[in-house]
Amino acid sequence: MTEYLKQNLAARDPLIATALANELERQQTRIELIASENITSRAVLDALGHPITNKTLEGYPGRRFHGGGEFVDVIEQAAIDRACELFACAYANVQPHSGSQANLAVFFATLAPGERVLSMDLAAGGHLSHGAAPNLSGRWFDARHYGVDRASGLIDYDEVARLAAEFEPRLLIAGGSAYPRAIDFARMRAIADSCGALLLVDMAHFAGLVAAGAHPSPLPHADLVTCTTTKTLRGPRGGVILAADTAWAGKIQPAVFPGVQGSLHSQVIAAKAVCLGEALQDDFKAYGHAVIANARRLGEVLAGHDVRLVGGGSDTHLLLLDLESLGLRGQQAQDALARVGITSNKNPVPFDSRKPAEWRGLRLGVAAATTRGLGLETMTELGEIIARALALAAGDGSEFRDLGERVQALCAEFPIY
Ligand SMILES: *Cc1c(COP(=O)(O)O)cnc(C)c1O
Repeated sequence: MTEYLKQNLAARDPLIATALANELERQQTRIELIASENITSRAVLDALGHPITNKTLEGYPGRRFHGGGEFVDVIEQAAIDRACELFACAYANVQPHSGSQANLAVFFATLAPGERVLSMDLAAGGHLSHGAAPNLSGRWFDARHYGVDRASGLIDYDEVARLAAEFEPRLLIAGGSAYPRAIDFARMRAIADSCGALLLVDMAHFAGLVAAGAHPSPLPHADLVTCTTTKTLRGPRGGVILAADTAWAGKIQPAVFPGVQGSLHSQVIAAKAVCLGEALQDDFKAYGHAVIANARRLGEVLAGHDVRLVGGGSDTHLLLLDLESLGLRGQQAQDALARVGITSNKNPVPFDSRKPAEWRGLRLGVAAATTRGLGLETMTELGEIIARALALAAGDGSEFRDLGERVQALCAEFPIY
C-alpha cells in the first residue's frame, strides 16, 4: 500500500526526472559564469534531499510550536553557531527562505511603513529588495537611491553623504548585485551616523569571500548584515541575517517568524549548516582567495582585448563588462557566449537604458568555475575564448565551433559530480 513511498523519481515521474537529468548534463557541459551561481557539495545536496523536509516546525530552537523538533533543534543551533563563528558575530538568524526574505525581515524589524530608505540604485548595481519601485520594499517604504560616479564606476560617497543629509533616511543600505569593487564600510558607517540612520550591509554576493578572509568584513561597521548562502558561500538557496550585537535578537527573531515567514525549511537549514561548516575549513579560505585571483586574471585578459571593466576591475568574484567599445549589446554577448558553452547574463551598466534589450553590459562571476577547479592558467584560456567569442559575435559560425570545443575541453578537464 505504501509502495509509492519507495519508488524513485525516474519510475514515478519520467518528465521531471528527464528534465533534471538534462539540467545536470547542462551544468556538466557548460562553464557557468553567472555571478550569483555556484556548485554545492554532494554533502549539501544530501541535506537538501533528506526526509527532514517532512518536518513542520515554527519558532526557534528550544521554543517550538510543534513537537518532535529535537533533531532539527540540533541542526538549527549548529547553523547559528557556525554562522556566528564564521563571521565573528554574536547573532545569526538562519531561517530566511532567501536573501530577499532576509531583507524584507530587516525592513519589517527596523522601519514603519512609509519610512525612508537610502540604497544603491538598481541601475547602478543595487538589488530589487532594497526599495526598488516594483518590489514591496519600494512600494511600502519611501526609498531613494544613490549611484556611482559616471567616469570611475565607483560609489560616489560624497553623493551618498549629500543625499543622506538631505533625505535623512532611517535605513542606509550598502551592497548590490553587480558592483565589482569592495565597498568602504567605514565610510558608509560614518554617513549613517551623520544622519542618525541604521546601516544594513547586504553581502549576498561576497559573503563567501568575507568568510574566507579574502574580502573585508562589514560586521564591525554595520548594525545588520544580510546574505544569501547561495552565491560565493556555495550553499543552498537561502538567506541569513547577522548582527554583531545580540540586542538585535529581540527585533529580528519576531520579524522573521512570525513577521514575514511561517514554518522553517528544515532541509535548507540543514544544508546551510553543512555549507557554513564547510566554509569554516581551511580549504575554503584558499577557495576564497582563488576566486579573487581568478576574477582579476579574467579581468586582465579581457581588458587586454579592449573590453572596458566597470569600476576598473574587481575586488570580488564579479566583473561587469561595458560592451560599448565592442559595439555590442548585453543580449548579443550573452548569446555569443552561450553558443560556445559559457553561461552568463546581460546586465545594465551604470547610466544604461532602462530597456533590457538595450543594456550594454555583461556580468560575469567566477565563483562556480573556481569551485570546479579552474585556476589562473585556465582563466587565461577562458578569457581568450570569451574575448574571441565577443569579437565574433556578429560573425559566421565556423570559429564558434572551434571555441565551443575549447570550452568542452575545459568541462572535461574539470568535471562536476
Ligand atoms: C542575490 C541577492 C539577494 C537575494 O537573492 P534571493 O534570490 O532572494 O535569494 C539580495 N541582495 C542582493 C544584493 C543580491 O545580490
